[in-house]
Amino acid sequence: MPLRDESIPEEQAQRPLRRLFLLYHELRPGESRYSYAIESGMFERHVELFAQMREAENCGLWPEVTFDDGHRSDVEIAAPILLACGLTARFFITAGWTGTKKGYMGWAEVRSLHEAGHAIGAHGWSHKLLTHCSDGELQTELSKSRLTLEDKLGSSVVTMSLPGGRSNRRVLAACAAAGYTQVYTSIPRVESLPLGATVGRLNILGSMQPEWIARLFEPDGRVLSGLGRRYRMKEAAQKLLGDRLYARLWAMVNRREPGTDGGGEGAE
Ligand SMILES: [Zn+2]
Repeated sequence: MPLRDESIPEEQAQRPLRRLFLLYHELRPGESRYSYAIESGMFERHVELFAQMREAENCGLWPEVTFDDGHRSDVEIAAPILLACGLTARFFITAGWTGTKKGYMGWAEVRSLHEAGHAIGAHGWSHKLLTHCSDGELQTELSKSRLTLEDKLGSSVVTMSLPGGRSNRRVLAACAAAGYTQVYTSIPRVESLPLGATVGRLNILGSMQPEWIARLFEPDGRVLSGLGRRYRMKEAAQKLLGDRLYARLWAMVNRREPGTDGGGEGAE
C-alpha cells in the first residue's frame, strides 16, 4: 500500500492528482555545451511556466521540480528563482560528496534548503551505479547516505533517487530494506497521488525550451508518450552495449566535461 507523501502539503494534495516530476541537475549563469546543465535564464522561464500552470483553473497535470546530485548551483542559482515564483522542490543529495567534492554543496547549504521548505532525499553515498554494487556496497550507498542525511538535518529521510537512473529488482528490494518508501527514477511518465514505491521523472536538458516543455502537459499526452518510447529504446541500448560502452557514448553525445557528474559512470 503506497504511503501518502508527507512532503506534499495538504492544500497541494487537493490539487490535481496527476503529477509530472521534472529532473534537473545543475545550473550555469551562461550557456553550456554540457547538455545536463541548464542556463539560469532558461531555468527561470521553466519555473515561471510551472507557477502559471499551477495557478491555471484547468490545470490537469501538476508540475513538480526535482534536482539530483546536490550541485552548488542548486542552492546558489535555483533556490532564489524557485522562491521568487513561490515553488518548493525536492533535492536528492549525494551524501558522500557533501562538503567534500568541489562544486557540490556543503551541509550548511543542504540544511538551508531544508529550512526553506524544500524536501531533501538521498542520491547514494558516492553516486555508484547501484546495479554494480555488492551487497556491502549497497549498504553504504543506501543506509549510510540516509543515516548521514538524517543526522545532519535532524529529520527523517525516506525518499531517494537512483544514480544514473539504474535499478533492478535486487536494488529496489535493497532500497525498501534500507527504509526508503519512494524511489525516484528517470522513467518519463505521469504519476498519480498517492505515489507508489517508484516515481517516474523526466530528465530536463539545457536545450529544452519552455514552449516545448509546455507541450508535455497537453491533455493528449503525445509528447510524453513519445519520450517514454525513446527511454525504452535507450534502456535496450544500455543492455546491449553494457554500461561501460554506453557511458562512453553518452559522454560523447552529451559533451560531458570531466568531473561534472558520476565519476565516469554516466550522469543523472
Ligand atoms: Zn546523479
